[in-house]
Amino acid sequence: MKLSRKVMQPRMFFLFNDALLYTTPVQSGMYKLNNMLSLAGMKVKKPTQEAYQNELNIESVERSFILSASSATERDEWLEAISKSIEEYTKKRITFNPSKSLEEADPEKQEEDSPLGSKAPIWIPDTRATMCMICTSEFTLTWRRHHCRACGKIVCQACSSNKHGLDYMKNQPARVCDHCFRELQKQDNQCTPKSGSPVNHKSPSSALSTVLHSIPSGRKQKKIPAALKEVSANTEDSTMSGYLHRSKGSKKPWKHLWFVIKNKVLYTYAASEDVAALESQPLLGFTVSEVKDENSESRVFHLLHKNTLFYIFKADDPHSAQK
Ligand SMILES: [Zn+2]
Ligand SMILES: [Zn+2]
Repeated sequence: MKLSRKVMQPRMFFLFNDALLYTTPVQSGMYKLNNMLSLAGMKVKKPTQEAYQNELNIESVERSFILSASSATERDEWLEAISKSIEEYTKKRITFNPSKSLEEADPEKQEEDSPLGSKAPIWIPDTRATMCMICTSEFTLTWRRHHCRACGKIVCQACSSNKHGLDYMKNQPARVCDHCFRELQKQDNQCTPKSGSPVNHKSPSSALSTVLHSIPSGRKQKKIPAALKEVSANTEDSTMSGYLHRSKGSKKPWKHLWFVIKNKVLYTYAASEDVAALESQPLLGFTVSEVKDENSESRVFHLLHKNTLFYIFKADDPHSAQK
């Protein structure tokens, strides 16, 4: 399964000694070839957030994407198989090509050296960000999401008004976010002696467009307190994180939200890649109690403060409720 921008699409993958094939099932037993990715320079990783335990991140020069297996076990089997193939393929390349040093072939080493734009980034799925990952303006029907072609983040049009040539796209100018644009310009300056180095493609009308953007053109920018921006939803050193359903009382509607606990503070987000929280609540003096009844299947628990009910939570499965 491949997770694309909006919806999950079934894909069949075939792993060979030197390449990963991905295909679309068409008829019984027939597959249409979508792409063939060389294992050279490919990387597979588990996502950092444990809520996405069925997922696998595939990064290669030509294409990067998120795969979703039907279970965590299946995911781990794929992870192991692909990692092993990459390892064996890399070893073989060194044996066949002794002029290449070990360092060159070591993927860990390449990681630090590979400059921005040399590889296709993983596009963060639309549903995982409700706000621009740079300026935190909220996305609406008119204020649309855009993907930075260099880092894969979801940003608004005002934060991605520049285009820049990217190596993996054969230097064709592509939409990049303001952070990447600055980084790419730095890279340009560092390698100026190279003739025909990446073109600094800033449209001549950029001065005008900056003026236009400062006029609120559908951008909904709420004042967000600094405290809510301290921790982003995908922070790596949280105690735990994941999606839960939350309700303020037994008759109130359920909301599906992303939660992060860090330094004994509970942060609430609308989606897992949002850079600003909706709420933050120190957990000092709070207690948790499990709700026991036949329907709840031990997925429901209460968060209480001095015996007054604060929130009711419902996990998607009993396993994550226990945590
Ligand atoms: Zn923005
Ligand atoms: Zn970017």
